[in-house]
Amino acid sequence: MIIKYRGKPVKIAGYEALLKRLSPTHPKRAAVKNSLNNARAGFSGEERLDEALFFFDPPYAHQIIQDFSLPEPFKIQVDTVLITQSAIFLLEVKNITGKLQFKQNPSALYSTLADGEIRSYKSPITQMNETTMRMCKFLEKIGSHLPIFSIIVIAHPSQTVEDTPPNSRILAASEVNFYLTELNLPKSILSIEELNQLSEKFLAAHQDYQPFPLAPKFQIQQTEIETGVFCPRCQFGKMHRTQVAWECETCRLVSRNAHIEALHDWFMLIKPAINTVECRDFIGLKSLDTAKRFLLNNHCQPVGGRKYRKYIYHPLHK
Ligand SMILES: [Zn+2]
Repeated sequence: MIIKYRGKPVKIAGYEALLKRLSPTHPKRAAVKNSLNNARAGFSGEERLDEALFFFDPPYAHQIIQDFSLPEPFKIQVDTVLITQSAIFLLEVKNITGKLQFKQNPSALYSTLADGEIRSYKSPITQMNETTMRMCKFLEKIGSHLPIFSIIVIAHPSQTVEDTPPNSRILAASEVNFYLTELNLPKSILSIEELNQLSEKFLAAHQDYQPFPLAPKFQIQQTEIETGVFCPRCQFGKMHRTQVAWECETCRLVSRNAHIEALHDWFMLIKPAINTVECRDFIGLKSLDTAKRFLLNNHCQPVGGRKYRKYIYHPLHK
């Protein structure tokens, strides 16, 4: 049974917003675009794993958590966790194009593209070993002694993989269901009730990975980020304020609440807090009073005294 489902990673919307607000010639555009492409590829790989396990119906009791993450001190992110009565399986999807080759001493993963270009990545095996060690510490903390096994899933259907290190489990997405269904599980350690309790502890400890704000991660200054409200229809058109709404200068779309997206962009890109001056200037509002009302009407909570009052957006920073 799946007890937590995967959502679209919030960082994808964040990278898109950042690209929209960087000038066409900004030197960091390529790096942001690269991160966006990696995030999209990662998500589509994870979706491929979810599809592969859509009819997963093994002969043993289990719970599945999609997209599990723990904050400090554990700092774990796992694409899919399978919890059974006798062991825990961590599944990590790699969606990398080209011919894959594992290198050792030191470990790395190389992909050779059709045009001969070679790209190198951190070894997913090293990454999984690290995650497994951290997961062991988490299990100790919640009083569990289940053994942990890790599996690397290759999402691309036509992927070839060379020099797979011995003792590593690397599967194509299409064979994951069969592999897990046919597993010869060791003897059960937990009762069904204990399995459910353990899964509940996982869910209680889970915290969505929070990648914001993005601009400092790319060493982009606030002054380099374009202000204003963008059109939700034509994306790159700027909108200006009319008496009652916002109107796109390019496609003439009229919207009453297009400026809410600009507020979300602030929190995703610049800082987890905003004051009324910043809000007025970033969005292009008439006055500080308008900014204050706008913030209070859009899930922002005031913190701090009158003079240094700022606002924090709650849905994003729970
Ligand atoms: Zn427009």
